[in-house]
Amino acid sequence: MAKADTGNQIEIGGIRVAPGTSVTINLPIARLYTYDNLSMPVEVVNGRKGGPRLFVSAAIHGDELNGVEIIRRLLRHSALKRLRGTLVAVPVVNVHGLLHRSRYLPDRRDLNRSFPGSGRGSLAGRIADLFMREIVANCTHGIDLHTGAVYRENLPQVRANLDDPAALKLAEAFGVPVLINADLRDGSLREAAMDAGIPMLLYEGGEALRFDEVAIRAGLRGVLHVMRALGMLTGARPVSQSLQPVVARSTSWVRAPESGILRPQTTLGARVHKGDTLGIIAAPLVDAECRVVAPVGGILIAQTHLPLVHEGEALFLLARFESNAAVAEQVEVLQETLAPALPDDEVI
Ligand SMILES: [Zn+2]
Repeated sequence: MAKADTGNQIEIGGIRVAPGTSVTINLPIARLYTYDNLSMPVEVVNGRKGGPRLFVSAAIHGDELNGVEIIRRLLRHSALKRLRGTLVAVPVVNVHGLLHRSRYLPDRRDLNRSFPGSGRGSLAGRIADLFMREIVANCTHGIDLHTGAVYRENLPQVRANLDDPAALKLAEAFGVPVLINADLRDGSLREAAMDAGIPMLLYEGGEALRFDEVAIRAGLRGVLHVMRALGMLTGARPVSQSLQPVVARSTSWVRAPESGILRPQTTLGARVHKGDTLGIIAAPLVDAECRVVAPVGGILIAQTHLPLVHEGEALFLLARFESNAAVAEQVEVLQETLAPALPDDEVI
């Protein structure tokens, strides 16, 4: 809803940001038990001209760091000089989790299962409530940046409620090959924002507690693509060619048939066929080996990097598409165009 006659003003945490200015706002959150104050840093970049108000958030799971780096690069990008509308960047939502290098809050709650939250609820619920009041309520669109869990790497992918036309538009504009329809009622920021009428998407790429250059570049490029699609970067040069995203028909985890030491036989993004060997599980001393077999064909969109596995553990995530071959090609283009170049004199 448009505020009457204030130009492109936005007010967050009681601080008013004038058109054509950028301000760092520290939103106070529950202080530490050492009595040190703690705050959630927010950078508001306000264009001279009004337009969409996009929030970009990261580290809602405190150990997921690629998004923190995506936002750092985004805020320094020259395209923002001609911003129309407002960018609200929140690089670390779960400050407590980041301090502890943990996905969770100190009470072991998952912040992204605690939305929309309440000012009188758990610590997670209070932070969720603050985010809804100060960030979501002041924005028209959102992007939430994630990675896989510890020891688990995700291929760059977008998850959104694709039954919602506005969210679908954002997801397609982001421009990574793999789209997953996520319409769960899971207490996530995505669900609460959608309920509040704010279309948003979730980007996943790489692994917790690691920087992954391809995932960071794909994420940065994706955010810029979305901003262009929303008309926030008018006049700027196109960021780069976008890939053709394809919606997965379904996804399924392949689990360890036995406990043991895993040797993966495939790589993230690979196209696999039904019956392919995805990995081999063996005991440390005896010869017996057990194959982990693909129950269906698809594209490998997540996999564990920890060789120690218990029976039943989720090892490989396969996504199935109308044409797995077409998606595999797009994934290859993504990995080739975004892989960091080797220094000239380096020889492999
Ligand atoms: Zn996450």
